[in-house]
Amino acid sequence: MAMPQCMWCKGVFPEENGPTHRYMESTPGCWAAYGRVLAREYEDQRYFAVHRLTVDAYAVQHPGVPGKQSIQSVAVHLIRLCLVLEQELPPEKANDAMLAAAKHKARYHWLEPATFLGPLTVADVEAASGVEEHSSMVRRWAEQMWQVWSPHHSTVRAWANVG
Ligand SMILES: [Zn+2]
Repeated sequence: MAMPQCMWCKGVFPEENGPTHRYMESTPGCWAAYGRVLAREYEDQRYFAVHRLTVDAYAVQHPGVPGKQSIQSVAVHLIRLCLVLEQELPPEKANDAMLAAAKHKARYHWLEPATFLGPLTVADVEAASGVEEHSSMVRRWAEQMWQVWSPHHSTVRAWANVG
């Protein structure tokens, strides 16, 4: 039987009957894989070092449909990717800046996602073995995600107050 393909990241994941997120739209199989990656990061501090990049990459790879929460989610996670990957802010500073930016949610609007947000997905992170491979795959995935949103970089920089 063919494995179902996620409508957003286009990854193929084993069939699942589990839940999905309310506004980060995905297939149950993709959501379950994300859950396993998060569990790996929560269980071991060495993996946890890249946890925020994992969350940001997943969120902006699964933007869902226009709505209050999806608009805010994509905005704040793109802001943090911008601050970490482009501005090279230390993680704590980037997080504080993201939280500060999140207070201005009225400014945000829907950003039209590219038709293809791959090719790396959470499946590639799950397949990584060992902390080094996991960390470098998360980093590559996050960098890819910042790149595929490049038509909106100037908007995100303005939201992050670095434009
Ligand atoms: Zn997916």
